[in-house]
Amino acid sequence: MRRNRRVKIVATLGPASNNEAMMRRLFEAGADVFRVNMSHATHDGLRDIHAIVRKLELEFSRPIGILVDLQGPKLRIGKFESGAIRLTEGDVLSFVRREGIGALGRVHLPHPEIFQAVQPGHTLLLDDGKFKLRVIDASDVRIDAEVMTSGVLGSRKGISLPDTVLPLGAMTENDRADVDYALSLGVAWVALSFVQRGEDVAEARKIARGRASVMAKIEKPSALNHLKEIIDLSDAIMVARGDLGVEMPVEKVPGLQKQITRAARNAGKPVVVATQMLESMIYSHAPTRAEVSDVATAVFEGADAIMLSAESAVGKFPVEAVETMDRVAMEVERDPLYEAIIHAQRIGPEATGADAISAAARTVAETLNLAAIICYTASGATSLRAARERPAQPILALTPIPATGRKLALVWGLHCVLTDDPRDLDDMVAKACRIAYQEGFALPGQRVIILAGVPLGTPGATNMLRIAFVGDGSEDY
Ligand code: PGA
Ligand code: MN
Repeated sequence: MRRNRRVKIVATLGPASNNEAMMRRLFEAGADVFRVNMSHATHDGLRDIHAIVRKLELEFSRPIGILVDLQGPKLRIGKFESGAIRLTEGDVLSFVRREGIGALGRVHLPHPEIFQAVQPGHTLLLDDGKFKLRVIDASDVRIDAEVMTSGVLGSRKGISLPDTVLPLGAMTENDRADVDYALSLGVAWVALSFVQRGEDVAEARKIARGRASVMAKIEKPSALNHLKEIIDLSDAIMVARGDLGVEMPVEKVPGLQKQITRAARNAGKPVVVATQMLESMIYSHAPTRAEVSDVATAVFEGADAIMLSAESAVGKFPVEAVETMDRVAMEVERDPLYEAIIHAQRIGPEATGADAISAAARTVAETLNLAAIICYTASGATSLRAARERPAQPILALTPIPATGRKLALVWGLHCVLTDDPRDLDDMVAKACRIAYQEGFALPGQRVIILAGVPLGTPGATNMLRIAFVGDGSEDY
């Protein structure tokens, strides 16, 4: 089974979709990676999803990725006696460190770190940005803030501090337990929420120890200030537009999406565009024109993956949402302007053998109009560099390692096939051609280009390019 698009689709699972029948339909409709949001899922739920994904992998003979998205340090206010209070513009709300039930004008804030970091003049946002407050006074035990927006504020709502750099890691005790569990299952990807700086990613990497790849969600202004270092330390990036649009003025999000996508593409790190892509499909079987345009924009930007959240997790039309993304993506990639647009953002190879060979492979494939680019890859590094080139031809990634296939399910343009390492050079060529034919990427008589690091299995040692003819599939190797 092959997909007829290069961009990948991430579908979040939830009550509307976390069962075998729906996951099969979502996969058939085009989901390449399933996301589990640990803000809502339990370990048992994750275990069941993992088991179903493994079953589907066998059924379809395709590697399927799992992305475990950690809740991160989501900050919340305490409770109110009556469940909610009314905030009126101009009032002062006091956030107090001492535990207790809140009332009109006062609420417990169970995060001591905030009291140390916040300064007069800083903005506080409550309930996904619905309420804006400005800090007028801050001490170790109490923060007074002026209410700028009126309304009714409920207990345990989220609080964001866009101006304040908090002395918090990106992982809580809960997150650590979730990561340990995810690693014990062997999931491919772990996403970190509310990353602020490079050290947050470094900390997660230390825990993962290469057993899972680490994705940094860019959703805080401080992450934007440390974008380069975060990209360098991450295996992938998410443009997490939900919280980004709370912590930053929402009109800045489209430009930031472009900036983050470009920076990640330049670094050769997969980038996912997330949140509200087809929001109206939570209730409607058809998307709005604006949503279709939003999905198309991400595809034209050359993002590696586009993501569904509530649409597939709790919506009424999860399958239709995936089908819609699939159709929009295929149409954009067929558009006569598509190649020119994504290539305008391509930057040259870095001075490494892998990049020089990846760039050469793309040029040869385009010049000779070859059917496919085929990479032998162990860790996935070679095929990530080949994908960074965004070639016009499909890329097949051949690997003996299932975990590599699951990781690469997220990456632009890569069709990953699990296969044993070839015995020798002749076998390498024969196997590549046979798989390209069997998987529907090349017809007999067409040519492909093969990339490898010989001897195989040495990471980062890409050193070979070979053009080969595809036979009619009847050869007995
Ligand atoms: P979330 O992350 O859905 O876990 O909040 C995505 C986002 O903020 O866009
Ligand atoms: Mn978020």
